[in-house]
Amino acid sequence: MMSLNEVLHARRLLARHLPPTPSWSYPLLDEAAGRVVVVKHENAQPTGAFKVRGALNLLAGLDPRRPVVTYSTGNHARAVAYAARTFGIAAHIVMPAAAAEFKVRAVRALGATAVLHGGHMADAEARAEALAGELGGHLVSPGDEPAVIAGVGTAYLELFERHPDLDTVVVPVGSGTGAAAACLVAAAVAPGCRVIGVQSTAARAAHDSWRAGSCVRRDNRTRVDGLATGRGFALPQSLLRDRLAEFVLVDDDAIDTARGVLAGAAHTQAEGAGAAALAAVLARPDLMGSRVAVMLTGGNATPAELAHRSPAAARSAAGAEPAGLSR
Ligand SMILES: *Cc1c(COP(=O)(O)O)cnc(C)c1O
Repeated sequence: MMSLNEVLHARRLLARHLPPTPSWSYPLLDEAAGRVVVVKHENAQPTGAFKVRGALNLLAGLDPRRPVVTYSTGNHARAVAYAARTFGIAAHIVMPAAAAEFKVRAVRALGATAVLHGGHMADAEARAEALAGELGGHLVSPGDEPAVIAGVGTAYLELFERHPDLDTVVVPVGSGTGAAAACLVAAAVAPGCRVIGVQSTAARAAHDSWRAGSCVRRDNRTRVDGLATGRGFALPQSLLRDRLAEFVLVDDDAIDTARGVLAGAAHTQAEGAGAAALAAVLARPDLMGSRVAVMLTGGNATPAELAHRSPAAARSAAGAEPAGLSR
């Protein structure tokens, strides 16, 4: 079983690489949510998402002469590429062929090799396993890595130290490393704070695995990248099992609405997964306390997400009246 010690060790290591991210509230957001909402700004990370914490912590412990191999649609890929560049390790990242082009470019810009393969994450996973064998590389799982969970836990240490009076923290879930880390850290330093997970109704493998008490596979039809997973991951599920207070499902449209609220009330660009925690606060006020934190896990919005969120900008791009002229 993992302990807080591993998170404290990760914090000492990460202090050399990343400053703490801000966490604060916005009056208009509090008004929209009907309670104090602390936003933890992981969109402010150099890769635009919290996953860089876990990747740095994991890769710091590897032999730099061996390449790392992993699979991801986006933010895990970028995090591993960033950490590999930091430590001078060669990185090979298998991404589904339909991965967003800007995410592939971001991985290559960090010096990693992006391998486009297959239609689904399961295909990419199989290709990554084979590639790790061919290259004698270290295969990094996006979910079942204690060092990733320990690194991600540093975000919750920062949050609870700065806001010791939180009664609820809401965490978007894909593989479950973030929510597992939240449970681990809350149990040790903020035992009065409940952790609530969120997934999309269109990709509910982690939710259903938690309810079932064992890892299950489910269809994965969400358009929200960070929440897209087809299966439960054993290590995060084992940490969530007795410690997660609740697991909420929201649909992709509610997540889009929450992105718009963050743009309008908190001048913040969130990607869908980054807005999912707020979507849960808005959808299930009955489950929330009076001092809630939402993990804004990432800001790497796709071009489609950006276009949807800002109709004024889309009109202006299409040649209509420029946004901001009519005052
Ligand atoms: C990966 C990711 C998640 C989900 O995190 P897990 O640790 O896989 O559960 C949520 N939001 C964003 C932006 C992500 O990149």
